[in-house]
Amino acid sequence: MPTQIVILGGGTGGTLTANRLRRRFDEDDLEIHVVDRDDRHVYQPGLLFVPFGLAQADEIVRPRKRQLRNGIVFHETAVESVALDDDRVHLADGSVLPYDVLVVATGSTLQPEETEGLTGPGWLDRVFTFYSVDGAAALQGALERFDGGRLVVNFVDMPIKCPVAPLEFAFLADWYFHERGIRNRVELVYATPLDGAFTKPIASTQLACLLDDKGVELVTEFNASEVDGEGGRLVSYDGRELDFDLLVTVPLHGGAAYVERSPGLGDPLGFVPTDRATLQSARPNVFALGDATDLPTSKAGSVTHFEGEVLTENIERFLADEELDAGYDGHANCFIETGFHRALLIDFNYNVEPLPGHFPTPAGPLPLLRESRLNHLGKLMFQWFYWHGLLPGRELPGLGPTMSMAGKKQPRPDERRRR
Ligand SMILES: Cc1cc2nc3c(=O)[nH]c(=O)nc-3n(C[C@H](O)[C@H](O)[C@H](O)COP(=O)(O)OP(=O)(O)OC[C@H]3O[C@@H](n4cnc5c(N)ncnc54)[C@H](O)[C@@H]3O)c2cc1C
Repeated sequence: MPTQIVILGGGTGGTLTANRLRRRFDEDDLEIHVVDRDDRHVYQPGLLFVPFGLAQADEIVRPRKRQLRNGIVFHETAVESVALDDDRVHLADGSVLPYDVLVVATGSTLQPEETEGLTGPGWLDRVFTFYSVDGAAALQGALERFDGGRLVVNFVDMPIKCPVAPLEFAFLADWYFHERGIRNRVELVYATPLDGAFTKPIASTQLACLLDDKGVELVTEFNASEVDGEGGRLVSYDGRELDFDLLVTVPLHGGAAYVERSPGLGDPLGFVPTDRATLQSARPNVFALGDATDLPTSKAGSVTHFEGEVLTENIERFLADEELDAGYDGHANCFIETGFHRALLIDFNYNVEPLPGHFPTPAGPLPLLRESRLNHLGKLMFQWFYWHGLLPGRELPGLGPTMSMAGKKQPRPDERRRR
């Protein structure tokens, strides 16, 4: 009997893990099953561009099955629960999948209903999110109709996927209204629960300067408690209010709902406690990656990709009864679109915050923490690389789970404000 691997989730992490395993093992040795509730694989970084008409919703969605190599069984149904003690997954269509190794890759779930009033009157009229395909498409129409007024960008609380995406939205909004010739009629506000523009100090200073340069007001420590869509008010727990004509918000995130129905698998938020270096999880034969984990790194596709490399290596080692590779160091790498055809690049891990310098080496072409056109081209090219390199599980020289310090510089305190 071949060994049976069951992968929950056919998004970024589930797909690249399945394809990497299929490349490593013969079908006679390993049977691979992927479960997802639908057959629509969304290139999520593309959601940022849809509201501005720079991408269309149907251009960033492809069938999941087509992203999986031959010899992988795809189950299009929801996960109902996992019985860790029996090594079995119960599916919504009534079937049961036994496993030798389980991979949890069910990402995170948007929970707009957790914030009072968010989906009440005004939802999809003057209150939007671009974190879903439908939301991003609806916001495209709303932005086209927007002729001036106060636009507030907000995220309710961490963790969220791609924590820089709301900032990118604010930068692109500045560009978009300039292009339309109405920037002087638009007030842009960025309201964040953080105490700065970003979580990491050096990047936070840099990004706050950029918001300032672009005339975007930064409101910090704003923990949104309530949305009054009809009255156009965003209210925080400490009683502050922000008026808006248009609110673009990122709702709370939690783990997948079935995690709660699976004793021993997750934490109270539905995320899956996971070893930060090996990706092993609730049991020795259970691994997790991507947004589904509780790891203290960004919920990002790059993170999921780097984790996938260590995770597939460790499944092979687990099956061979060898010691696991503790090779994931929290490496994250992200382009931040800043508008006007420019972007920043950040590269960091659990211990090293994003630093200035060059990537991937001191002579590398991509400046770190500094706007450049090449970084913007890198951001655009990432979509091609996603479908043709990352998801198929190809080896990518120079980009891996361990961050390199080559090219990075610790700035002097007087250099920190602007580079
Ligand atoms: C607007 C936006 C911009 C982003 N920009 C970037 C960026 O520039 N760079 C970057 O690196 N990352 C970016 N990301 C983040 C990136 O897309 C995610 O971190 C990445 O997709 C996580 O992969 P994953 O496999 O963990 O989750 P996903 O790719 O979300 O996959 C999870 C899968 O699990 C399935 N699932 C969930 N529950 C169930 C269930 N009960 N039963 C069956 N299936 C289920 C879902 O249908 C989904 O297919 C962005 C995200 C957003 C929303």
